[in-house]
Amino acid sequence: MNSFVSPLDIQSIYLEPAVETYSRGRDILARFPAAKLIPVGSHWRIPELREGDPADFLHPKRTVLVLGVKKGLNSRPNGRSADFIAPSSSNGCAMACAYCYVARRKGHANPITVFVNIQDICRAIARHGAKQGAKPEPNQVDRHDWVYDLGENGDLSVDALVSDNVRDLVALFRTLPNAKASFATKYVNPDLLGYDPQRRTRIRMSLMPARMAKLLDVRTSPVAERIAALGELYRAGYELHLNFSPVVLHEGWEAGWVELFTQLDDTLPAGVKDELAAEVIMLTHNRDLHDVNLAWHPQAETLLWRPDIQEEKFSQNGQLNLRYRTEWKGRWLARFRALLAKHMPYCRVRYAF
Ligand code: SF4
Repeated sequence: MNSFVSPLDIQSIYLEPAVETYSRGRDILARFPAAKLIPVGSHWRIPELREGDPADFLHPKRTVLVLGVKKGLNSRPNGRSADFIAPSSSNGCAMACAYCYVARRKGHANPITVFVNIQDICRAIARHGAKQGAKPEPNQVDRHDWVYDLGENGDLSVDALVSDNVRDLVALFRTLPNAKASFATKYVNPDLLGYDPQRRTRIRMSLMPARMAKLLDVRTSPVAERIAALGELYRAGYELHLNFSPVVLHEGWEAGWVELFTQLDDTLPAGVKDELAAEVIMLTHNRDLHDVNLAWHPQAETLLWRPDIQEEKFSQNGQLNLRYRTEWKGRWLARFRALLAKHMPYCRVRYAF
């Protein structure tokens, strides 16, 4: 894999009271012996992280880690990126994509929270998988297996810099006869090459045109590195899918995607092409996030905030979202799919919206 730059320099660790009673908690604390420990009642209630000035929020992403114990261990039905969303082993992220919805739940900084009861999480997933029995029929998610999304609220490739949670999850799915793991990522972590996934973990590499990613995918691995990693991850035993998201529209948007598709077509090993599928998600933006971004990254908003081609829609939890106008969105999505089919005809679209 290419150059490796860690996005983390952990100096402070907020931890719930029970963390040190778990071996994973003690392992993580031993990795960062110089970090200042700050006891907290709950990983959800850390006002200085939740209410910090958005203009300063990149600093805690690099320097702060939160450790907690995951309470709810249910798997939820999904049907898009996976059949089920597994109980998460973490939330928050060290990266700072300008369109990220993850930050909306836990405040702007939202550094990584790692859950130390990984054995409970693995047992809960295994129990849920066993109850499902064999998958009765193929669906867009997978032909044979139930697929569990492990990374709904963060990026597991970065989490793997902090603990062995991701290694344990990959190991778990090697043993489940009817289930596969899956997570999307924008970060290249060479440690993942040693996890021996035996094609039971699917990585969905998240990609967009490189020039756009430079502006929007803040603190992630450059797109060229993500593409270069695909072959190595495949040879290391991962199943590889692509996550084209978000598709951000602007004048001349097609050219960047054609360049990306061409680059992928030139680079991907035959084995990856044989099984390749992608999900395509057009940008949904958000009024509150727009205000936050104006405080720290206003250039991103010139691309994300386009009321001239977007329409407002209230989400179920009362947030004001902006999405591309319905009457045009379908046309643009069809155009995207046509370009993909032309340049990467072997790439099945799992879902697009
Ligand atoms: S990598 Fe994913 S979780 Fe992290 S900031 Fe970007 S979109 Fe959000």
